[in-house]
Amino acid sequence: MFASLAGRTVVVTGASKGIGRGIARRFGAIGCNVLVIARSFEGAASVAREIQDAGGVASAAAIDVSDPEQTVRMAAAATERYGAIDILCANAGIFPAARLDRMTAADFDAVIATNLRGTFLSVSACVAAMKARGGGRIVLTSSVTGPVTGYPGWAHYGASKAGQLGFMRTAAIELAPARITVNAVMPGNIMTEGLSGLGPEYLARMEGSIPMRRLGSVEDVANAVLFFASDEAAYITGQTLIVDGGQVLPESLAALEEMDSA
Ligand code: NAP
Repeated sequence: MFASLAGRTVVVTGASKGIGRGIARRFGAIGCNVLVIARSFEGAASVAREIQDAGGVASAAAIDVSDPEQTVRMAAAATERYGAIDILCANAGIFPAARLDRMTAADFDAVIATNLRGTFLSVSACVAAMKARGGGRIVLTSSVTGPVTGYPGWAHYGASKAGQLGFMRTAAIELAPARITVNAVMPGNIMTEGLSGLGPEYLARMEGSIPMRRLGSVEDVANAVLFFASDEAAYITGQTLIVDGGQVLPESLAALEEMDSA
């Protein structure tokens, strides 16, 4: 039985849609105070309203995580509204595809700015409040793409997602004495607004390459985040958890075909 997290304050970036929305709703449902972050205030506010309508405590702020002044404002909003920051879910990310022969420096920089610099800025903005509280939990949303696998069009994205894990390992060491843990979930293909933008053909082919034969749900990822955020995970830091229905396991297409022939 896990101890209740009711009353804890959680900041979730990239929470107006997709995985972030799923994480925010999950923490809202168990009685946490949730600060819902996205660049679009309307998008963030509508998720905060969903949480409130379900009986939870939530509010929104329009923050671009790639901007240091805005992430400082994000942390200030959490402490002003709820008196603390206990948990940060650094989830905001973008995944525009561009093959290397067409990828510009601006394309590369934009992905790194949100996914990697945004992770660093979100973490560094929230750490002081966690130290004041005597500890905290930071959970990054990385990916299998980059740290484990590759996919044409996502060299910049893969670099940003692998970079998050490099960042995490040193941050985990530096923050351990302050009783702040830093861990990462690594989703496979999760059914979100962002992923559905890649088209039905992509989704169907992906489903076919996952041993569990379904895309992940945002709840699948939120459950893993919740574990890292729990009191019971206090002694786990600098670690990763893949949430992918077994997608990275088959050594080849032949392994999947063999699975089907059984
Ligand atoms: P999504 O549906 O496109 O949602 C992205 C969210 O991030 C939105 O709320 C968006 O709102 C926000 N956002 C984007 N840029 C931002 C910025 N600069 N500052 C603040 N918020 C920003 O994406 P998703 O599929 O849920 O992905 C969420 C995370 O999971 C990403 O880090 C992604 O890399 C990771 N991931 C996803 C999958 C998957 O299969 N879906 C797999 C592996 C990893 P605004 O546009 O209003 O800012």
